[in-house]
Amino acid sequence: MQYHSLNKQSPSVNFREATIAGQAPDKGLYFPDHIPVIDPALLQVIADVSREELSFRIMRPYVGDAIDEESLFRIVSETVGFPIPLLQINEQISSLELFHGPTLAFKDVGARFMSRCLGHFSKQNKGRITVLVATSGDTGGAVANGFLGVDGVDVVILYPSGKVSAVQELQLTTCGQNITALEIAGSFDDCQSMVKDAFMDADLQRTLQLTSANSINVARWLPQQLYYLFAYQQWQDRSRPPVIAVPSGNFGNLCAGLMAFAGGLPVTHFIAACNVNDAVPEYLRTGNYSAKSAIPTISNAMDVGAPSNFVRLLEIFGNDHQRIVEHITGYTVTDDQTRQTIADIFRSSGYVLDPHGAVACYALQQFLADKPGRKGIILETAHPVKFPETVEAAIGQSLAMPEAATALFGRQKQAIKMNAGFQELKDWLMSR
Ligand SMILES: *Cc1c(COP(=O)(O)O)cnc(C)c1O
Repeated sequence: MQYHSLNKQSPSVNFREATIAGQAPDKGLYFPDHIPVIDPALLQVIADVSREELSFRIMRPYVGDAIDEESLFRIVSETVGFPIPLLQINEQISSLELFHGPTLAFKDVGARFMSRCLGHFSKQNKGRITVLVATSGDTGGAVANGFLGVDGVDVVILYPSGKVSAVQELQLTTCGQNITALEIAGSFDDCQSMVKDAFMDADLQRTLQLTSANSINVARWLPQQLYYLFAYQQWQDRSRPPVIAVPSGNFGNLCAGLMAFAGGLPVTHFIAACNVNDAVPEYLRTGNYSAKSAIPTISNAMDVGAPSNFVRLLEIFGNDHQRIVEHITGYTVTDDQTRQTIADIFRSSGYVLDPHGAVACYALQQFLADKPGRKGIILETAHPVKFPETVEAAIGQSLAMPEAATALFGRQKQAIKMNAGFQELKDWLMSR
């Protein structure tokens, strides 16, 4: 498989080169030259196929000959080595729980796959690779956990001081070894722009092999389509495929699902569920796209004003707004609606949503309201304990901490404090 840059000014590369580079030299996102068709015979028997085997068969054509079959099978098996259950919330709505990984959010799958691929590639690579990543919360922990102890790779995580939750901060600052956390006196946008400046800087380019670990990177983006296959594996009614609602920020998750759909996975319709950062729902409604600056909300992992994967969404449907809206409907969900949904669902079914899953749930309820008999799935992207204040206030009781979270509170935070602005980061990176 070859990958081309969506800016069309850089040469095509294979999966290995696309993963190591992160972004194309012309600053475009990489996109596969074709979307592999999922074997219809596999879809027929999908409920009887193991998740490891299914993951291997889906990822194989994307990876091509960049990784041998035995290594790829090991990598996907480690990637999906935790439960991803589909639970029914009520008559119409089920929840695909993507938060049973080590950092309690769905980014574990992408981060684990990417880290293992990069670890594999670094064996044939001269020098160390530095992964530089900015996080608004969940990416940092997933990347730290995924890359911990991977030979040949150093990870530097920038996070905004005081703007991530306690669990999120501990997850990204307590790893040690090859993981370094930089606590930036600024916002997430400051962190993001420091990282962007680093990728553009000629001195750093010369000295370090830098790559990104957000969903720009194909090795983090593409394995997310596995969620949609796991959902279908557990879906009972083969004659009526699910409507799937995806809580979206940078749109890596939804675009990955669209790749599986384009490859033949049955899905009735997709819901792009956003908080008030709704550039994409607005595009779906009006045909006009305009990036905005991010507004803080209680579903903070989706506070993205200019979603980087929007160009991939357009590419999947050949830039045809008409075709796009046949398959995707967008919703804008306010914080009040999000809180109300957490409370209502808890009262009516006992199920506890996190704020991101609640955004998806609200949107799916709206979509299904005039379609009796239709059923759908929300992607529950984070464990509610990652957002205890919001969730406990909405349900009126306290949450039990899972083991993965309680263990964190005994550990020592280690972070290097830094001011916002590129020069200090550059000096620090050059002097390591
Ligand atoms: C990152 C994140 C999202 C948004 O996913 P995108 O792929 O950026 O659209 C949603 N929910 C949670 C909990 C997240 O961490």
